[in-house]
Amino acid sequence: GRCVVAVDGPSGSGKSTVSRRLAVSLDARYLDTGAMYRAITWAVLRSGVDLTDAASVAKVAGEVDLRIGTDPQGYGVTADGVTVDKEIRGPEVTGAVSAVAAVPAVRELLVARQREMIAKAGRIVVEGRDIGSVVAPDADLKVYLTASEAARAQRRSAEDAADVAATAADLARRDKIDSTRKVNPLQQAPDAVELDTTALGIDEVVARLRELLTE
Ligand code: C5P
Repeated sequence: GRCVVAVDGPSGSGKSTVSRRLAVSLDARYLDTGAMYRAITWAVLRSGVDLTDAASVAKVAGEVDLRIGTDPQGYGVTADGVTVDKEIRGPEVTGAVSAVAAVPAVRELLVARQREMIAKAGRIVVEGRDIGSVVAPDADLKVYLTASEAARAQRRSAEDAADVAATAADLARRDKIDSTRKVNPLQQAPDAVELDTTALGIDEVVARLRELLTE
């Protein structure tokens, strides 16, 4: 049957790994909303418009043909027919995505797309920053993952094969923009279950979430 799980939290809190594993174990679809903001950002950067020009950024966002799969074992992202899976994880996109995601018209567009995809899938784990609070306030389970700054930087730098100190600085910079923007900032929904993953393994977190779903 229908089952929507909302997973929110700051960068490096373990959202992606946990959400994908949970989706596989529930035989559900998986939606990485961060990848959508990243793909729009890739298109904005390619277009050459000024990132501080919200109207131009919104115009590009509205014109991109964005497609994203929902298979937790491997989803592809394309923008205007170009496969951008690798590009959206690169430093250019990571450096610009929070600014693009703060543009209200960009959020309006993507929130609408995300709601359509959730309705169509029915059974889905959705990860992001505003899923429990804005995109799917009626989710069956809302989780807010946290982890110490050190653990988050450690995990992200290992994933990206990047320097820990530089990664820590980038995470802090993005979290600040994401949690202070005017529209749909990163915030814990009042009815979300908070889980600190600093000292937990992935399997433990997934098992705990499965427990919460059957409670
Ligand atoms: O999750 P990920 O790190 O890929 O997200 C990249 C960026 O996309 C975040 O730093 C945030 O600015 C934006 N984002 C957002 N709302 C979401 C998901 C991501 O604003 N639901």
